[in-house]
Amino acid sequence: MVADYYIDLETTAEIVKKILPKMGEYKVPITPQNYRVWFEYYSGTNRELLQEINSIIESKRRFTPELNRYLYTKYFGDDHNREMLREVQSKTINVLKNFLEQVLSTTSTTSDYGNKLEKYSEQLNKAEDLTEIQDILEEMIRETSNMVESTRDLQSKLKEASNQVEMLREELAKTAEEAKRDALTGLHNRKAFDENIAKLYQRFKEKGEVFSVILLDIDHFKQFNDRFGHKVGDKVLQVVANTLNYTLKGKDFVGRYGGEEFVVLLPLTELDNACVVAEQIRENISRKRLRVTKTGEELGTITVSAGVSQVRNGDTVDSLVERADKALYLAKESGRNNVKSEKNL
Ligand code: GH3
Ligand code: MG
Ligand code: MG
Repeated sequence: MVADYYIDLETTAEIVKKILPKMGEYKVPITPQNYRVWFEYYSGTNRELLQEINSIIESKRRFTPELNRYLYTKYFGDDHNREMLREVQSKTINVLKNFLEQVLSTTSTTSDYGNKLEKYSEQLNKAEDLTEIQDILEEMIRETSNMVESTRDLQSKLKEASNQVEMLREELAKTAEEAKRDALTGLHNRKAFDENIAKLYQRFKEKGEVFSVILLDIDHFKQFNDRFGHKVGDKVLQVVANTLNYTLKGKDFVGRYGGEEFVVLLPLTELDNACVVAEQIRENISRKRLRVTKTGEELGTITVSAGVSQVRNGDTVDSLVERADKALYLAKESGRNNVKSEKNL
């Protein structure tokens, strides 16, 4: 009546998966003997045993210790089946070891969990009976679900935290950037100018790197506003800002100094070259034909005057800007729509 065991590993795995919950369901203690009976039942190789257990289940009889002992003795006997029991054990161990290897290959072996699983693997090899295997298995499952859950939880928390940090970082960078921009023109504002010129001045002091300053002021802008209105005036300020942006590139700094005044900082640029740049800006602005897009109304042209200075030994930031401002005043005095430098003072 003892069936031969030609059951492959996969089938064994299927059986093992079914036995433990079923034995739990019928409240059969997991002893090697009971396990042996139920393994046989699920492998279906012993028809008599299969039918007897089925009828017990159908009649809703309880699997008492007496009944369990009876089943084991009837179908296997004690000494006679020791060898069979060992075979079941070894197959079960193989299944569990396979599972272990899979888990280990997807888990960092340096982790605490990895070490624990290796310990389990060793324990499984030494296991004397299925109760021991079952204990190891249960501990493993506990450990695995702990590991999986805490890792998932930790991962999602970490991910969430890192997303929030990233958002905050972007928000802060945006706010910091916005704080240095002029709302109307999008150019750098006075605060940004103060920071930038301080840096350039520092580099001049430390490394002797010269730089130049251009101050620009729209000519007769008050009249323009009075004639066409403040809103149109605002548009013109934007046009001037755009012209500055496309005329200047790279490391040059363009800012709105205040009202209808603009400032340009030119790193590593001497006075003469700065004057050429200022002249380009003046020309580009004066060439603009302004027109109201909607109505097509002609607004004519606007012009700017510019004053240029270059940093010198003995300068402070203030004295440098003041020379550019004086040159600008001179440009205004000289008829506007022109560039003057500190050389002309
Ligand atoms: P000047 O050639 O001597 O520079 O003459 P101006 O009229 O440009 O100079 P003034 O300093 O007398 O007037 C500056 C005008 O610029 C006053 C104001 O109408 C205008 N303005 C300043 N800021 C703004 C702004 O943000 N929007 C508009 N639309 N106009 C502005
Ligand atoms: Mg002005
Ligand atoms: Mg002006």
